[in-house]
Amino acid sequence: MKLGIVGLPNVGKSTLFNAITRAGAEAANYPFCTIEPNVGVVTVPDERIKVLHEVYNSKKTVYATIEFYDIAGLVKGASKGEGLGNKFLGHIREVAAIVHVVRCFDDANVVHVDGKINPISDIETINTELILSDMEVLERRIQKTTKNLKGDRSLQKELDLLKRIAEFLGEGKSARAMDLTEEEAEFVKNLELLSYKPVIYAANVSEDDAAAEDNEYIRQVRDFARSEGSDVIVVCAKIEAEMAELEDDEKIMFLEEMGINESGLDKLVKASYKLLDLISFLTAGEPEVRAWTVKRGTKAPGAAGKIHTDFEKGFIRAETIAYDKLMECGGNLATAKEKGLVRSEGKEYIVKDGDVMHFLFNV
Ligand code: GDP
Repeated sequence: MKLGIVGLPNVGKSTLFNAITRAGAEAANYPFCTIEPNVGVVTVPDERIKVLHEVYNSKKTVYATIEFYDIAGLVKGASKGEGLGNKFLGHIREVAAIVHVVRCFDDANVVHVDGKINPISDIETINTELILSDMEVLERRIQKTTKNLKGDRSLQKELDLLKRIAEFLGEGKSARAMDLTEEEAEFVKNLELLSYKPVIYAANVSEDDAAAEDNEYIRQVRDFARSEGSDVIVVCAKIEAEMAELEDDEKIMFLEEMGINESGLDKLVKASYKLLDLISFLTAGEPEVRAWTVKRGTKAPGAAGKIHTDFEKGFIRAETIAYDKLMECGGNLATAKEKGLVRSEGKEYIVKDGDVMHFLFNV
């Protein structure tokens, strides 16, 4: 699951990205050894893993992870090839969602590209580049559909929708802000428009505003985000960078001293999970306790396929128990079985967050 970090220059992207990378470097169990320099991996905090680890006395724990791509270099004119424009737009195409870092801190020492702090104008500058790039895609699509319409009148509906989107984008609004029926949304999703990608706005604030999570800039970002149905998280990239250097228990003390409830990275991960509609299921045993990420609505064989393609191909059934139910039995699977709490689920079972699963399969 990949998210791309975008934002104007000097808003704190690299600071935040470096914090992610450093925190990720400590995630010793990350299963891949080579990570590209522009990719940062963070583990998804999950208390359940810690508890299961103790119950099973497991040799290893593996947390779910999310990958963040640093898509720096998006500037005004990117859609026209300014800077390394098109390359960056290409990178955005590959991610499932966007984290848009917005400068919400005053600091006379840090130059703003436009000379003044204005979160909305910053957001619009970036969004406009995505919208302009989408307009080109739409124009080509409209031309093609207009041509094909002569042989296939049923394309009229599609053409009308394409024109409606083009008109909407023409007003400087992102496709994600459009009111669409389910059927229309499905169609628009397949167009792979950049401005249709889900977004989290990360309001980067000064150290002083981090605890209160409030200032005039944040309010502006929240209003804007609401208008297009997007989420906002408040982070202080500088604090995150400092925290990335600390051990876990030091982090907790540090946050307490600052009067902050939750680290920005944790907020970012949670918001990403919510935005992408993800859940975690768990596997637990003595060799390993592990969390796996799937999209909500995934059926048991699909979940099995996360672990190994053979598990999916040869799927028979999944012994399943909700984490809470397992804990009611002190984490003892045998007791849970005696009480009939372990269910045998088949191919149509839709996996739930916190399901502890054991797959049975043919080889
Ligand atoms: P990028 O160009 O968006 O990657 O921005 P950088 O991460 O390089 O940050 C630009 C400057 O802003 C650096 O000097 C950072 O130290 C500073 N900066 C980043 N985040 C914060 C913050 O939360 N508060 C303050 N005061 N400065 C920050």
